[in-house]
Amino acid sequence: MIKIRKYIEDKINELSSDIIKSTQKLLQIKSVKDKAEKNMPFGKGINDCLETTLNIAEKLGLKTKNLDGYAGYAEIGEGNELIGILCHLDVVPEGRGWTYPPYGGEIHDGKIYGRGAIDNKGPAVAVLYALKCLKDSGIEPGKRIRLILGTDEENDWQGLAYYLEKEDMPDLAFTPDAEFPVIYGEKGILHICLSKKIHAGRSEKVEYLSISGGNAVNMVPDFCQAVIRTDEGELIKESLTEYLADNNVKLEIEESNDSIIINS
Ligand SMILES: [Zn+2]
Repeated sequence: MIKIRKYIEDKINELSSDIIKSTQKLLQIKSVKDKAEKNMPFGKGINDCLETTLNIAEKLGLKTKNLDGYAGYAEIGEGNELIGILCHLDVVPEGRGWTYPPYGGEIHDGKIYGRGAIDNKGPAVAVLYALKCLKDSGIEPGKRIRLILGTDEENDWQGLAYYLEKEDMPDLAFTPDAEFPVIYGEKGILHICLSKKIHAGRSEKVEYLSISGGNAVNMVPDFCQAVIRTDEGELIKESLTEYLADNNVKLEIEESNDSIIINS
């Protein structure tokens, strides 16, 4: 056991610059769900990312399969039993406010920056190289170990549905989705729509046109914007500025023609 562990540690050290390069390569592909194209059910970006990942797997000597652009897998071992490791290659939109380019895969202070570095391209690459090490170590697990690559995890899970239609359900599975070493539960997520009639208050000359924020329902909103139409712009701006100062809140207030735009 110690021998194997040492073997794998040495092998990972030997492959580390390759592991980093492969991670950067995947981070440089903007794999946000997009309109379907021929043989690309979730758009070109996700398809490129799936193909690139399967190419890396193939070069590492793993058995691969592309399930018509809906999903893919990389596998080692022989046997009836199937161990599944689930990763996904799609990401949510990048949003604003990045210190380094979201699709740059740049390294700063020993960390790789990019959308999907942790969720979930980095872990997918880690699994690929772990499978290669296991394969090269000569261990015969007596079962198949399969990295299943999903492509629609951030939206409708159609990739996994397609996989389950066509392929075996694993006998046992885990997912290194995000933080090391494993997540066994998530807090849950609500997709809700709130609506409320807002009265203008003391002035009938105020109309709330919109309040919106964020880019996707499953990501933390990076901005919020409210648009108010009014002919009492000065008064509203003054009261808002006072309110923000009293409550130590920072928002940007812009005036444009007959509207006030408030940005977080
Ligand atoms: Zn994820």
